[in-house]
Amino acid sequence: MLDQLKCLIEYQKIEDKRNQLMRSYEEGPRRIAELQKEFEYFEEQFLSKKEECENAKKTHRDIELEIEELRARLGRQKTRLGEVKTNKEYQAISKEIEETKKEVSKNEDSALELIEKIEVLVKEVAELEKDLRARRGVVEEQRAVLEKEGGELQVRLDRLEDIRRQVRERVNPDLLKKTDFLFVKQAGIAVSSVENGVCNVCHMNIPPQKFIELQRDEDILQCPHCHRFLYWPGHEGYCINEQDLDSI
Ligand SMILES: [Zn+2]
Repeated sequence: MLDQLKCLIEYQKIEDKRNQLMRSYEEGPRRIAELQKEFEYFEEQFLSKKEECENAKKTHRDIELEIEELRARLGRQKTRLGEVKTNKEYQAISKEIEETKKEVSKNEDSALELIEKIEVLVKEVAELEKDLRARRGVVEEQRAVLEKEGGELQVRLDRLEDIRRQVRERVNPDLLKKTDFLFVKQAGIAVSSVENGVCNVCHMNIPPQKFIELQRDEDILQCPHCHRFLYWPGHEGYCINEQDLDSI
């Protein structure tokens, strides 16, 4: 068995595990951002409804003030009516009084309509607020879970990084350089098994002579197509138990 090839196979398994953990690790913040965004959407709905309700209340207050002013005007007009000297004046002020009364009545109708609208809005705001509070609770809960998971993943990644460093130290520098190059160039896979004369990653046939050489286990060989380092799982020593890494 070639010790260097065994190191490469281990290195590959560690890299696979590391990529898998990294994906989970990056998933956490992405999920948190998604939850936050979803929450903000509902928060916006709530704030906009609340604003609508506040505006309706303000308009209602303005109308009430307007009614007060109109009533004061009506009082003045009635006083004037008692002081008129001519019939013409009497008619003119009576007409003014009628108009003021109409305006009061119009404003009172609007105020009533608004009160009904405000009642509905207040209920809607309260419901949205309740819903938002519940959502906030769920988001905080999930955030805590995800952050805890992230912390645990970080610990596992740190442990894996130690093992990774140890394996890298065992690989000779030239081979390490080639391997790291392949990791970058070949989608994170630098080592492939060969089964039935076929490279398991690029699925191309290995020339029969090369396959025989591989089984002889004298040299580290590369796939003539994808250039990944090859091993034959028929050599049991190269079959690394992936479960050993699962416990990390
Ligand atoms: Zn290949």
